[in-house]
Amino acid sequence: MQSSGTYKDDFRHQGMRRKLIDNLRGKGITDETVLSAMNTIPRHFFLDMAFEKIAYEDKAFPIAAEQTISQPYTVAYQTQLLQIKKGDKVLEIGTGSIYQTTILAEMGAQAVFTIERQKKLFDLQKNYVFKGKYLNIKFFYGDGFIGLPTYAPFDKILITAAAPFIPPKLVEQLKIGGFMVLPVDEGENQRMLRITKLADGSIQQEQFEEFSFVPMLAGKNL
Ligand code: SAH
Repeated sequence: MQSSGTYKDDFRHQGMRRKLIDNLRGKGITDETVLSAMNTIPRHFFLDMAFEKIAYEDKAFPIAAEQTISQPYTVAYQTQLLQIKKGDKVLEIGTGSIYQTTILAEMGAQAVFTIERQKKLFDLQKNYVFKGKYLNIKFFYGDGFIGLPTYAPFDKILITAAAPFIPPKLVEQLKIGGFMVLPVDEGENQRMLRITKLADGSIQQEQFEEFSFVPMLAGKNL
């Protein structure tokens, strides 16, 4: 993330952003509330200055701690599957650059709880560009496999790293009728899944496209 005082969102950035939104529409993203949130939030604010000119390419880029900011198509795809409604209480695993977190907050979630296991990335929140604007974001340094039992249940849960399996503790923390969207390992790539929690506590599973994420790892890293 850029250091404070360097943020500018001029007509060139806005133009590149509009093109990216058209590109996402062309790739099959249809939810206008997702596209509108992505058109509002300047992605280049979440990257090092060196990426300013390419920040609106539909690509993942390196951030700190050998992690990546997700590709815009992936962010749009996962957010569209989540069907965020105003007032939703959301849990995100893998804060990373805080870009996806901000999209969820912009869409009107009542609260977005986000967990990061890399201390370096968690510390980025000190420079968070939209401090004071999205007071509905709550940052946690911890292990996403454990979730946040104190704040459960959640209407929606989003995992933004490759999960080796469906984390059982997160299923417990999902509301009845709630959605969890997560990429689950399937060899080299991961299959995007949407889990719905049913009234008897069991889950129903839908399968979508394949993606490639950094791994979801257990425990915290200093
Ligand atoms: N949503 C982020 C994606 C970052 S990549 C963005 O768009 O910028 C995935 C992130 O998940 C990485 O930052 C990684 O450190 C984090 N991660 C991996 N395993 C985790 C776990 N068990 N708990 C919390 N975060 C985890």
